[in-house]
Amino acid sequence: MRAVLTLNAGSSSLKFALFSVEDEPQVLASGLVERIGGADARVRARSATGESTGDETAAIPSHADALERALALLTRAVPEAEVKAVGHRVVHGGPDFEAPLRLDDASLAQLAALEPFAPLHQPHNLAGIRAAASHFPEAAQVGCFDTAFHRTQSREADSFALPRAYYDKGVRRYGFHGLSYDYLAGHLARKAPLLFAGRVIVAHLGNGASMCAMIDGHSVGSTMGFSALDGLPMGTRSGQIDPGVLLYLMEQEGMGAAEISDLLYKRSGLLGMSGVSNDMRALEASTAPEAREAITYFTTRIRREIGALTATMGGLDALVFTGGIGENSVRVRDEATDRMGWLGIEIDPMANSRSDMLISTPLSRVAVMVIPTNEELVIARAAAHHA
Ligand code: ADP
Repeated sequence: MRAVLTLNAGSSSLKFALFSVEDEPQVLASGLVERIGGADARVRARSATGESTGDETAAIPSHADALERALALLTRAVPEAEVKAVGHRVVHGGPDFEAPLRLDDASLAQLAALEPFAPLHQPHNLAGIRAAASHFPEAAQVGCFDTAFHRTQSREADSFALPRAYYDKGVRRYGFHGLSYDYLAGHLARKAPLLFAGRVIVAHLGNGASMCAMIDGHSVGSTMGFSALDGLPMGTRSGQIDPGVLLYLMEQEGMGAAEISDLLYKRSGLLGMSGVSNDMRALEASTAPEAREAITYFTTRIRREIGALTATMGGLDALVFTGGIGENSVRVRDEATDRMGWLGIEIDPMANSRSDMLISTPLSRVAVMVIPTNEELVIARAAAHHA
């Protein structure tokens, strides 16, 4: 059976899924390797119907070893699958890559040159590509870029007010979570074409969180910029911060780049503010006032960005919640849309509590929706194109 593999390689994790190649790829099995590099790495997989097809703990030194382990479980689950193409999630496609791409030595070198722009993610993404290329030398390796969806943005949307030389050197607002936005744009195009053709904000709220403004399915603005730090606060990332704070930390606290990076990426956001957890479920369950404050900060920033992105588009027709928090947290959706009647947003509390696809009232001028994202499917579709 012709199949495609999708890989999403993080610093110490590898998410994988196997899809059949049909008009619309169908998932056959999927899984996750965690703690790569450790002696107690864990690899597990499950079939399309959710049954476990393996759960092992072992020393897994590298991404190449992780891939071998993953393939062993997938082969056990779907022995008849023949992998014809491998689709990779790649965080950074730079200013040029605006669509998925079959990778060759030249494009891989271009992606490696972008490592300084995303040092925490890009090298691991590329390690996954190299591992897959060496295991499947005949298969197409297809890169799917988190930045690609935003390449339609205007110069004023993707610039900083710095001397032009920095823009030319690549210091721009790239935007991320593009695979998720691509999925949702496609979903709206099929299920709600009138909204798709209008002005839409998608709020992708997970461990990482960002929002995207789309007109006619094209990105015209996003809350993430040069890095995946900007915009909304996240599980452990700060979100928008006055650059003066960084100067202060350097000059007065003597912090270096590595320490500031650790602070902004790993110790801030919901975790840093609450001192309780980076996990929204834990914050919602907590009685600590700091946990409540962290949620309020999160939802206040979402409300602020709804206003800003709406102004960018000159109005709003639909607001879509997605990601682990967006799809599941009744409270976050409620607080993020509270007192927004002035903008034509009116939530039906019952529909919200059920996480219905449409959670706005019939009189709400803006359609407010909950739509589960599927980034793997976007990667699988791109890979299937080359299978
Ligand atoms: P990632 O960005 O790593 O893919 P997810 O999209 O899975 O993350 O989102 C993880 C977040 O979703 C966590 O903060 C988690 O607490 C939150 N989440 C998942 N289910 C719920 C729920 N039922 N209620 C509130 N938050 C939830």
